[in-house]
Amino acid sequence: MRKSIIIGNWKLNGNQNMVNELILKIRQELDQIIVSCTVVIAPPMVYLERAAHALVGSNILLAAQNVDINTIGAFTGETSVQMLKDIGVKYIIIGHSERRTLHKENDILIAKKFIAVKEMGLIPILCIGETEAQRKSGSTYIVCAHQLDSILKILGTSDIFTDVVIAYEPVWAIGTGKSATPKQAQDIHKFIRNHIAQYNIKAAQEILIQYGGSVNSINAAELFMQPDIDGALVGNASLKADTFALIVKSCK
Ligand code: PEP
Repeated sequence: MRKSIIIGNWKLNGNQNMVNELILKIRQELDQIIVSCTVVIAPPMVYLERAAHALVGSNILLAAQNVDINTIGAFTGETSVQMLKDIGVKYIIIGHSERRTLHKENDILIAKKFIAVKEMGLIPILCIGETEAQRKSGSTYIVCAHQLDSILKILGTSDIFTDVVIAYEPVWAIGTGKSATPKQAQDIHKFIRNHIAQYNIKAAQEILIQYGGSVNSINAAELFMQPDIDGALVGNASLKADTFALIVKSCK
């Protein structure tokens, strides 16, 4: 039985007060109730340690929004997986479309990040998904398969899809208010699971595949009812404690 996971991706938002207040409010909403999913927040890198302190005594876990492939040395401005692990981070988002597009991260770099995260025993949240143009040209499945296969090609097929979260995030749905319909998302999640099953049936049954792209407190419940949707990667709606809590509560 898979336990769904909801991750709030705060992106480039916040300051010290906002981090304290948002975590306090999220805890007021969620600490006293039994939630059926894993709840994770991903504040900006510079506030992760503050967030770790604010989360002491809570079941809410921490994710980083990015990481470098190097472990130590002359890599100005970078952060290693070890450093993130050292301050209590459990998950690391990699391959987000904003990093693929704005920071020109390619499949090779993403695969290297993926292995760096796994080697340190943390869990990569691998984001995949098609652009609007790719969807219109009917290549959604090809794009998603290619993004998975490019990791497999570099890393081999043994156990790389265990202890991993996949986030299917159609690029056209991110930050646009235009979510995929539950059926659209379910079809692609099922395709992703079947694709992984070609390599490793057990991993395919166990892997968590979240949906991301304009998830909010209104559309979340129906998305979560789909058999292959195991939670959500939430951007904008994770910046409001009550909305984020409603999304978490709608996860069965
Ligand atoms: C995201 O940043 O991964 C995301 C899905 O954003 P939003 O929920 O705002 O579309």
